[in-house]
Amino acid sequence: MNTLRDEAIVLRTYKSGESDRVVVLWSKSHGKLRAIARGVRKTTSKLGSGLEVMAHVDILLAEGRGELLQVRQVQHVHRFSALRQDFDRLSAALALVEVVDAIPTDNEPDIEIFTMLARALQSLENPDFAPHLVPAAFYFKMLAIDGSAPQLDECVNCGAEGPLVSFNAEAGGLLCVACRSGRPVSGDAVVLLRRLLLGDLAGVLRDGQVAGTAEVAALASEAIEQHFGKRLRVARSLNQALPAEPHR
Ligand SMILES: [Zn+2]
Repeated sequence: MNTLRDEAIVLRTYKSGESDRVVVLWSKSHGKLRAIARGVRKTTSKLGSGLEVMAHVDILLAEGRGELLQVRQVQHVHRFSALRQDFDRLSAALALVEVVDAIPTDNEPDIEIFTMLARALQSLENPDFAPHLVPAAFYFKMLAIDGSAPQLDECVNCGAEGPLVSFNAEAGGLLCVACRSGRPVSGDAVVLLRRLLLGDLAGVLRDGQVAGTAEVAALASEAIEQHFGKRLRVARSLNQALPAEPHR
């Protein structure tokens, strides 16, 4: 029987039959995989604790008779236990795995997505980083690797330098006063978007919840939803959970 060993992040799990669980994984070298862990819900199972959502695991899978692979062994690489203790961090992490889970199953293996997801989870585990903009940064990076990075340095329609006053995900970026469409954006949000996407992500995460955070989080969710053509439940509830912008 053929087996494969890989590192993977657990995206989702669901119960199957009396005592089994199906796991959906994004693996480093084999893309999205679905596997069944037989007997995992029995208290004697050794597989169970490794298969929680968001865990980074080293996993051994075997080909089964059906289309599902079978989980043979699983070990934690990172469990990300700190982020599981904090509501904001946990919500942000769930939003990340939900978006990766929305990638169609027939997608090619993509080590870049695996690496980005593992890094984003590590950022959420890092107490020096605020969690609120980690999903937004992740969504925009996903758009970028699909060739859909938003245009942020000039009006996406006419090329004017500014002022840029709205963001339209469908048009692909920021727009000037004359061309404006989509969602109005503040000057703070424009500055924050540029910092986030053009090289100062760590600085932004260290600064915590800076002005424009809620706006940028909402823009990112809209852009990724528009890209996948469906509503992402966790991404949406995450925005609702964000505190209002500070008044200045
Ligand atoms: Zn314009």
